[in-house]
Amino acid sequence: MDTKSAPKPVVAKHPEVVEAMHENPWHQAMEQLDRAGKAMKLEPFALERLRHCKRILTVSVPVKMDDGSVKVFEGYRIQHNMDRGPAKGGIRYHPSVSLDEVKALSFWMTMKCAVVNLPYGGAKGGIICDPKKMSRGELERMTRRYTAEISIIIGPDKDIPAPDVNTNAEVMAWIMDTYSMTIGYSCPGVVTGKPIEIGGSLGRNEATGRGVFYVTRELAQREGFDLRKATVVVQGFGNVGSNAANIFVEHGTKVVGISDVGGGLYDPKGLDLHDIMEYRKTHDSIAGYPKAEKVDVDKVIELPCDILIPAAMEGTITKHNADKIKAKYVIEGANGPTTNDADKILFAKGITVVPDILANAGGVTVSYFEWVQDMQAYFWSEKDINARLQDIIVGAFTEVYDLSKKEKIDMRMGAFMVGLRRLGKAATIRGMFP
Ligand code: NAD
Repeated sequence: MDTKSAPKPVVAKHPEVVEAMHENPWHQAMEQLDRAGKAMKLEPFALERLRHCKRILTVSVPVKMDDGSVKVFEGYRIQHNMDRGPAKGGIRYHPSVSLDEVKALSFWMTMKCAVVNLPYGGAKGGIICDPKKMSRGELERMTRRYTAEISIIIGPDKDIPAPDVNTNAEVMAWIMDTYSMTIGYSCPGVVTGKPIEIGGSLGRNEATGRGVFYVTRELAQREGFDLRKATVVVQGFGNVGSNAANIFVEHGTKVVGISDVGGGLYDPKGLDLHDIMEYRKTHDSIAGYPKAEKVDVDKVIELPCDILIPAAMEGTITKHNADKIKAKYVIEGANGPTTNDADKILFAKGITVVPDILANAGGVTVSYFEWVQDMQAYFWSEKDINARLQDIIVGAFTEVYDLSKKEKIDMRMGAFMVGLRRLGKAATIRGMFP
């Protein structure tokens, strides 16, 4: 055979293809699970079960668009695990939503609820769409049809959605209304992150950002640095990023860098967040704000600072940029922002990473409070909610931090071990049907 003219085998040898496969969020999540599960000798049957999602529902969502045409969107709702209670997790609207992304996010929800010890399993949902290019009417029709399609598996005792990237309280209200119309009575507990007027909870909107602040304040105390003298950079200026940034500023910490998908801003003297938010009201993005230095969107995480908060999407800190990070602490506001390769680089550089499943658990914690309030039809004060949130987040932080120090492991591994212990016990006590 003439080897010179023989066709090259079509395998994923192209470095970018291999990397994309490797950095697939589901593969990343399973690597994390295997690493922690094996290190702590988790019962093999529990480990094996966590490697699979319990239920995966793919739905097609036909929507009448404003121009009269019909567009069909693909959506998912995935319940990863329900051993410890009903499934819980947000709904994402984004062009890059994929089945593997939603699987990974549902797995991280299982882990997160176990780390902070909420009586929930993990779920996630998403629709492949570009909400920035859709009208409010189109978004409402898409949300209502998607809700009808997934209503066969959601419910206050089964699976309770919440907001995630590009979904908000208004979208949750449409879900609550559609589900309630289907069953014939009002059911506030089917969804969390709703408006207060229909059973939402005080403090839910800020809860994820507030939780990010609580873990950072606790870390500062344990590591012996003064948070008021520290500088913070936040990647992503949506629900999580903007609330976290504002809460840091309220407590006297300087936020020197921020970004959204349109661009980044830097001011070593501290950014005027109030002014930037006013600017965004009329410009749709923080990009172009004239009173701060412009920074390329991909370079924001490389800015000089003490604390970096990735609060945008997964996979933004990779082996290509981890080495350029100057912060001493990375607090993961987003889910899965650091790839496993980047994790190793950060650990070797002595950078402490507070992992997503602990750092951003404030959102699901107050979602749990909202659900409890809905079930009791009795509502708590914001002061009460923030105090209970602090108790849960500080308790979980202490458990993970102490275990990490004792076992000389990074905090991601520590958080996985805390969560997997609870999940392993639940799986063993329940046993396997049939
Ligand atoms: P959001 O839609 O409110 O905001 C996302 C922000 O990220 C926007 O400002 C967007 O412009 C920006 N962004 C997107 N890509 C970017 C990039 N490459 N660089 C810089 N900015 C970019 O979403 P959110 O609810 O704040 O969620 C952000 C992250 O936090 C997600 O990973 C989500 O899963 C996670 N999370 C959210 C909650 C919650 O309660 N909303 C809870 C826990 C975790």
